[in-house]
Amino acid sequence: MGRRILILGPPGAGKGTQAELLCTALGIPHVSTGVMLRDHVARGTDLGLRARAIMDAGDLVSDDIVVAMVEERLAAADAVCGFLLDGFPRTRPQAEALDAAIGADTLDAIVAVSVPDEELIARALARGRSDDTRETIENRLAVYRRDTEPLIAYYRDSGRTVLDVDGVGAIDDVLARIVRVLAA
Ligand code: AMP
Repeated sequence: MGRRILILGPPGAGKGTQAELLCTALGIPHVSTGVMLRDHVARGTDLGLRARAIMDAGDLVSDDIVVAMVEERLAAADAVCGFLLDGFPRTRPQAEALDAAIGADTLDAIVAVSVPDEELIARALARGRSDDTRETIENRLAVYRRDTEPLIAYYRDSGRTVLDVDGVGAIDDVLARIVRVLAA
């Protein structure tokens, strides 16, 4: 099973939860731009102060900022043998920057978790994060469909396999599905 993994999916699909479990199981670092950005907000850094309103609205932080953050993170020693990217890339320029940074053939697996919109909205409202108002959730979903979902075609068009996983069901069941497609 490859250890350079990218997980794609709409907000509320359970990517973060699955990513944590997979990283623990595989012994690889969880590289989540959402976690990194929330950490900046919590620490009140310049970047956090700038990112907060954007995140609260469900919009995307600029490509330059997140690309620089991920490049720095992937250069760290613990990412040499593998990593799981969660929440990045979210736009075509981010995907191209990632390919340029690590090489287009470097990812071992790209997993796309799918969940229907109604279920995503219900889950996000139950989660109660500060950026989880209905308006923000609907905007995050629209941004996902517009900017991020096309990355599935971007990867397929460049000859890479995207592994589809049904994200509806119990956490353990979804995890088992992901492990199955990764092992196949
Ligand atoms: P997440 O935890 O992945 O849902 O991310 C929370 C918020 O952080 C998103 O709604 C965006 O505002 C911002 N964010 C996270 N990752 C990215 C990214 N790759 N590009 C731009 N903005 C991001």
